[in-house]
Amino acid sequence: MGVPFKSICPADDSLVWEGPADDAAACAAAVDRCRAAQPGWAETPLDARIAVARRFAALARERADEIAALIARETGKPLWETKIEAAGIAGKVDLSIAAQAERAGERLSPTPYGQSALRHRPHGVLAVLGPFNFPAHLPSGHIIPALLAGNAIVFKPSELTPAVGEMLARLWRDAGLPPGVLELVQGGRATGAALIDCAIDGLLFTGSARAGLYFQQHFAARAGFLLALELGGNNPLIAWDGDAEAAAGIIAQSAFLTAGQRCSCARRLIVPDNDDGRAIVDAAVAFAARLRIGRWDADPQPFMGSLISAEAAAAVDRAIDRLAAQGGVMLTGARDTLPGGAFRAPAIVDMSAARRDDEEIFGPVLQVLRVPDFDAAIAAANDTAYGLSASLLSADDRLWDRFLARSRAGVVNRNRPTNGAASNLPFGGCGASGNHRPSAWYAADYCAYPVASAEAPSLQPGEPDLSRFLESGPTP
Ligand code: NAD
Repeated sequence: MGVPFKSICPADDSLVWEGPADDAAACAAAVDRCRAAQPGWAETPLDARIAVARRFAALARERADEIAALIARETGKPLWETKIEAAGIAGKVDLSIAAQAERAGERLSPTPYGQSALRHRPHGVLAVLGPFNFPAHLPSGHIIPALLAGNAIVFKPSELTPAVGEMLARLWRDAGLPPGVLELVQGGRATGAALIDCAIDGLLFTGSARAGLYFQQHFAARAGFLLALELGGNNPLIAWDGDAEAAAGIIAQSAFLTAGQRCSCARRLIVPDNDDGRAIVDAAVAFAARLRIGRWDADPQPFMGSLISAEAAAAVDRAIDRLAAQGGVMLTGARDTLPGGAFRAPAIVDMSAARRDDEEIFGPVLQVLRVPDFDAAIAAANDTAYGLSASLLSADDRLWDRFLARSRAGVVNRNRPTNGAASNLPFGGCGASGNHRPSAWYAADYCAYPVASAEAPSLQPGEPDLSRFLESGPTP
């Protein structure tokens, strides 16, 4: 066993969880248990695997209040938001069953010789590394479809949310998942590094682009290894025309939901450099300054809770200092709003005349860019190595058509926030935001590989008919 570690409620520093970090030997043992259990799980009929997933969903529904409170305490996210995440666990089961039937089911077609068949097979033992921001929803987005497909999983939750990870593993156990099919290991990067060096068949990862790039390099020489990466973004929101107050609500939702700790949050607000653009920015600044911030359990509920930790809040402060040093002008600012050090108010920084970089700032910080025309707006939107989400606020159909055609992103919305993606659609990005293995509705695709079969019930004399190629006379 490795060094003990703790998770702390970021709102009041109270202890949520503590335990040892798993070391290389513990990771290898977990992988071995999965390796032993996986063939039996893969041979379990799909209906029986679905039945376990449905029991897991039923338990998640029964315990939804308890789960929501735990997520809120461990992450600092307000209860109204974590109730949605808790309810989404069961919802993910139904969606994953439907998605698997559509994307990775079985198709049999009659042929003159018998039938052709499309089937899907599990990869084997997969590691899942989860991020902190949706500690139940995002790992479940990998774990549920991967288990349905017949894989065994070693799950390492974020070191910032071990209690939620433990709760998920307990739900699966209580649902009757056979021992060894889902193993939990706890710890930080050292545990993650030890896990990915074990004999696993794939890694399903949601987290930062930096870690994703590292994994791409790490596994580049491992033929046949399945790597699914759901990474960050530097997402643009073009607010071009329409009611400034209405735009301000969508801008706030896009940039500051979950205290800006969503991969799909808008990081850059692009507006026309005219009176319409100024009205939109003024309305967004006024709106942001009024957003209620507070403890996860406060009544009335805040829009935003704390960030995940005081360290994360300090990183946001440093990012804002960097923007200022690059020539950014603060329009409304991050400030300590509550004791505890992890709370930050929304910041909006005008970067129109500043030098810009392409860092994802994972917090409530929105950068404004004023541009002369719509072509410049699209160019600015695409001026990023990432490509996760993008939105256009405009009533003009022609602008929407241009935006849709030219946007480099996996989620492209109109008059809707950049975040809050539909779970019955694929979710993933291009560029540095992933490796073309989108999750959500398409997760079934990376959880299994297709097997194409040509099948005849028995050997048919004369099939294939090669007689015209045969020399006459006895066989030499
Ligand atoms: P992170 O990359 O720091 O950590 C994610 C997980 O990977 C953790 O469990 C961590 O311990 C592990 N890890 C990180 N580096 C590792 C390494 N080198 N070796 C082994 N394990 C390693 O991410 P985070 O801070 O938890 O989450 C925030 C990031 O995730 C943001 O960049 C955000 O945009 C991204 N994200 C993406 C999506 C998506 O669906 N595209 C969703 C949520 C969050």
